[in-house]
Amino acid sequence: MKKCPYCAEEIQDEAIVCKHCGRELVHIATAEETLDLKRATVLDQAVSDYQNKGWVLLSKVGGVVQLKKPKKFNWLWFILWTAASWFAAFMGALVYILYYAVKKEKIIVLSTDNQGFLLLNGEIFTLPSKPISKPQTPEDMERQKKSTQQALIYIGIAILVIIVIAVIASSSR
Ligand SMILES: [Zn+2]
Repeated sequence: MKKCPYCAEEIQDEAIVCKHCGRELVHIATAEETLDLKRATVLDQAVSDYQNKGWVLLSKVGGVVQLKKPKKFNWLWFILWTAASWFAAFMGALVYILYYAVKKEKIIVLSTDNQGFLLLNGEIFTLPSKPISKPQTPEDMERQKKSTQQALIYIGIAILVIIVIAVIASSSR
């Protein structure tokens, strides 16, 4: 039994109209109902906020919601990356063209003196003897192998770092 809020007479708990004064009884929510409503409202609001930002609702079981952000092929980033790599290639080519443009041509003058010796730029020319390469020891070969491996590792690390930076740059938008 409960009390009618209007006439204060006792009525049944399930009553929606007071049998004494005939007024309609407004449902007075319990604390538990209020909390449930609050939780549902908070969750619905958050879900709709995420949906407005492009997230897609995957599932809603009880009070747990799962959303996903679909990946999208970004043409702008694709074009920017392509343009950047073309630009880098173009700059490389330009550097070589500039190097070629400023490179001086070598001119030598060959002649012979009165004793029949060859003169290079007016001076006696002796053929440069081939430098005698000293035979490689096993330690030398080992050292060479190690430095080659080290260089390869550094190049690998550099490539990895560039890839990681590229990935971070594209995902942190
Ligand atoms: Zn009443």
